[in-house]
Amino acid sequence: MKKKERIDIRLEIEPETPWLGWGGDPELGQIEALKTIKREIKRHIDYVGSMTILYETREYCEHCNMTWDVDGVTCPCGELIEGGE
Ligand SMILES: [Zn+2]
Repeated sequence: MKKKERIDIRLEIEPETPWLGWGGDPELGQIEALKTIKREIKRHIDYVGSMTILYETREYCEHCNMTWDVDGVTCPCGELIEGGE
């Protein structure tokens, strides 16, 4: 008989809109906000097994913002990668 179980049960937290109160770089603002939330959770909440800040990365063209998903040294917009890998 086929059964289903819940696995990897966890709480996922997203920071508030980063530009509200954190200023500067929105990406770093979100990381800083999560570090603060993590410290506050540790200080005030029991039963926490572990907390890890996770994120994905995306390579993109800083000229046109297109995701850089091709193995090349030139973006379709014509922009060159500085010292391409
Ligand atoms: Zn481009």
